[in-house]
This record gives sequence, C-alpha cells and structure tokens, in this order.
Amino acid sequence: MFADLHLHTFFSDGTYSPEELVAQAQRHHFSALALTDHDTVEGCVPTQRACEAVGIEFIAGTELTAEQNGHEIHILGYCFDIADARLLVEIAKFQTVRQNRIREMVARLNQLNIPLEAESVFALANCRAPGRPHVARALVRAGICGSLDEAFERFLKKNRPAFVPKFKMTAADAIALIHSAGGAAVMAHPGLNHSDEVIPGMVEAGLDGIECFHTKHSTAMAEHYLELADQFHLLITGGSDCHGASKGRPVMGTVKLPLKHVQQLKARAAQHQSRRAAQLPAA
Ligand code: AMP
Ligand code: FE
Ligand code: FE
Ligand code: ZN
Repeated sequence: MFADLHLHTFFSDGTYSPEELVAQAQRHHFSALALTDHDTVEGCVPTQRACEAVGIEFIAGTELTAEQNGHEIHILGYCFDIADARLLVEIAKFQTVRQNRIREMVARLNQLNIPLEAESVFALANCRAPGRPHVARALVRAGICGSLDEAFERFLKKNRPAFVPKFKMTAADAIALIHSAGGAAVMAHPGLNHSDEVIPGMVEAGLDGIECFHTKHSTAMAEHYLELADQFHLLITGGSDCHGASKGRPVMGTVKLPLKHVQQLKARAAQHQSRRAAQLPAA
C-alpha cells in the first residue's frame, strides 16, 4: 500500500492529462496519489474524478514557488480546501506573474532575432501557470532548438539571455497560505539546489513536513533528511515529481511512500482545518 505525493499534469508543466496520470498510477499499483502542479489547483477536480473512477485515493495538492534567504524553495501543500477564496486569489496573482514573465522571455528572444510569439507559448501551455518548460517546448516545436535541454542551456537557464526571474512569495507566506486553506505545508525536494540552512526558519514559520523521498534524492540524501525530520519533528513525505514525458522518461514508480505517512499528513491537515473552521464565522 503506497502513495506518490508529488505529481504534475498538463495543468502545469507535466505532459499527462489527469486520466493518463491516474492510469499510470494504477499501472504502478498506487493506492493514493497527490496532484502537485506548480502554482495552481486547476487539475484537482478532474484528477479527483479520475481517481474515484478507479478507486485510488486522491489528495488535493499544489507546489507553490517561494523563496527563503534568496533560495528558490518549493512548498508542497496538501489536503487543503481547493475552493479557499484567499488561496485562489493569491495563486491567481502568481499565475499573472507567470503569464507576464512568458511575455518578457519571448520579448528577450525576439531581441535575439528569434521569431517566437507569446500567443504560441500560451496556446501550447493551455494552462494558467505557464513556465519555462512551455517556452522550451515552443522553441523545439518552432525548430529553433533540437531539444528541451538545448532550449534551457542556450536561453532559459539562470544567466542565459532569455532568463527572467520570477517574483516569489516568501516561504513563510506560502506556509501560512496553505495553513489558512486548511492544509499541511511540506518542503519539496530539499536535496535539490538549496541548502539546509533555510530549514530552521521554515520550521519556525510552521512547516509541517519535508519531502525525504524524491526521484533525485540518493539513499544517503533520503537518510539525511529523515534525520532532519526527526530532529525538527517534521512529517515525512515522498513522491516521484513525475512530469510525464517532458523531462526524459516518466519517473512515476521510482518513489513509493508507505501509506502511514499519508495518514500522518492527513491528521496534521485535519488540525489546520479545525483551526480554520474555528476562525470562520458561524454559518
Ligand atoms: P519555471 O517555474 O518557469 O521557472 O520553470 C521551472 C521548471 O522548469 C522546473 O519545474 C522544471 O520542471 C523545468 N526545468 C528546469 N530545468 C530544465 C531542463 N534543463 N530541462 C527541462 N526542464 C527543465
Ligand atoms: Fe516542474
Ligand atoms: Fe519542484
Ligand atoms: Zn514538482
């Protein structure tokens, strides 16, 4: 009985539809999954429906882009109310930031005499939270780059000519936002590109858990973060971070999180939900 708590669909930068995602999860015999598209919850309703159809437990989620001490941090939110008004208002702001950033990246490419139109990136992305992977796909589709990697290497990586930084909320704000929507907040893939020194501040801000198991974590890294989870009294989560076929081979199935961690995560979210309910005016 296992779960994958970190998955993307075409509602952000993954390639799977909700139905394809769930079919893959079924193939790997997962009994629960969480959808964690970047800065959006658009895919939650269709993915929940697809899960219900095959008897997989669905966990509402998102992966918020945030920062702490100058490091980009991804905060996973779980089990929150996907109709929470404040959450929807806040993520809409970050979706607007992402859309404007696409226009700016395209303008920079145009300055390099690369004939790409923002509208073609939006058409291809067809979601509210477009990002660099969509610009990369548009460059490949237009025959300007031979691969997504080439697009990132030549244009889109940090310090490359079409890179545009993105305004981000602080990690503390992301954690507070998830809590106010009745969910649990988890630091995504701590082993990737950030340093552990940011963790105590996030614990201070109310971080609930840490993603110890991730496709790109070595066994040693997973053990290291399990120790930190113990030290800081954080819940343990894990997921494949599968983006479908957009970054090489699909990686679903590489991380299998025992369900007891899902139970603990749900119990923590229930605490945030009762706190939230206590603060809401009586109906
Ligand atoms: P953004 O949020 O728009 O800055 O885009 C970040 C996303 O780009 C990450 O979540 C990855 O999915 C993707 N990404 C980063 N580097 C690469 C790369 N070299 N090739 C393909 N995708 C990448
Ligand atoms: Fe991504
Ligand atoms: Fe991430
Ligand atoms: Zn992710």
